[in-house]
Amino acid sequence: MSEDWLQTLIRPEVRALQSYHVPESAGLIKLDAMENPFSWPESMRQEWAERIVAVEPNRYPDPQAKALVQQMREVFSISDEQALLLGNGSDELIQMLLVATASPGRKVLSVEPGFVMYRQIARFLGLEYVGVPLAEDFSLNVQAMLDAIASHQPAVIFIAYPNNPSGNLFDSMAIRQIIDLAPGLVVIDEAYEPFAKNSFMEQAGQPENLLVMRTVSKLGLAGLRLGYLVGAPRVIDELEKIRLPYNINVLTQFTVAFALKHYSILLQQVDDICQQRAQLVKSLSMMPGVTAYATDANFVLIRLQSGSADDVFMQLREHGVLIKNLSGQGGLLANCLRVTVGSAEENQTFLEHFEAILRDAKP
Ligand SMILES: *Cc1c(COP(=O)(O)O)cnc(C)c1O
Repeated sequence: MSEDWLQTLIRPEVRALQSYHVPESAGLIKLDAMENPFSWPESMRQEWAERIVAVEPNRYPDPQAKALVQQMREVFSISDEQALLLGNGSDELIQMLLVATASPGRKVLSVEPGFVMYRQIARFLGLEYVGVPLAEDFSLNVQAMLDAIASHQPAVIFIAYPNNPSGNLFDSMAIRQIIDLAPGLVVIDEAYEPFAKNSFMEQAGQPENLLVMRTVSKLGLAGLRLGYLVGAPRVIDELEKIRLPYNINVLTQFTVAFALKHYSILLQQVDDICQQRAQLVKSLSMMPGVTAYATDANFVLIRLQSGSADDVFMQLREHGVLIKNLSGQGGLLANCLRVTVGSAEENQTFLEHFEAILRDAKP
């Protein structure tokens, strides 16, 4: 075999990528990935353990996940006129959407800074990614969006609502304008809907090119990998053709159904996180040299006016607290960090170290 056979074999757009990096977090307070910090009450864990023995790992899962889907329709208020597609996390739904639409010259559009998987998946499928910069305050630059849509004619537009990593909800009238002008699909990514309570879900499928995507990850079930996409039956039917038949495994189907029977417990946890969020933003806002952006999600975007976000990030990790360093992405994220809202104790530990590090960094 020639020496560069692998280089020739693997597509150039794949070779150009870096695999998605997940930092080592063992032993650290984990405030980097927007996970719910709370476990289930002991009685609920016990009940789950007792019931899960009935699941049969030797059998393939129900390919349609009928029982789970019915329950999701009730719990998440999805009407019978709306169709629903399940994915192995919303990441897989993004992949399905782009596999279905990928062909040379087609484009995918979102905002910058935005969720990195839109760009990552677009690139490995050979689609061109267009990132339209947000305004200085992370709001939508509406005219720039409309101009970019008119000139690039994107096959798919992704809008995270609230946005990650900025945490804000964009103006819903502006999103309406985008939907009206879009020549292809518009996917409203509501991964953080539990913390925002604003939603396009009722409108999913009307117009036909409007899809709403959600996940149970940020709600508290990140380990189970379940995302869902809601829209017009005609659109979902096309996407359904490229879904691998058993993408939602038996343990996930069982456990999400179980958790949704105890949905009120998850909602209590969400309430608690929202209260902690208010505390965290308040404490951060009182720190000199720190901008904490308003957030409708379970994380806070922070900008340091002075000092280095890289240094602060590394020192926090040395003190056992893992957050997300965004400053390497540059642009609007220069000197920015992102911290997930944790439990009261976790947030307190983070705040104490963060404040001390900033204080010591002062000349
Ligand atoms: C976390 C996140 C997702 C991914 O969710 P999974 O269901 O865990 O794959 C999708 N979109 C946004 C904006 C996110 O922040």
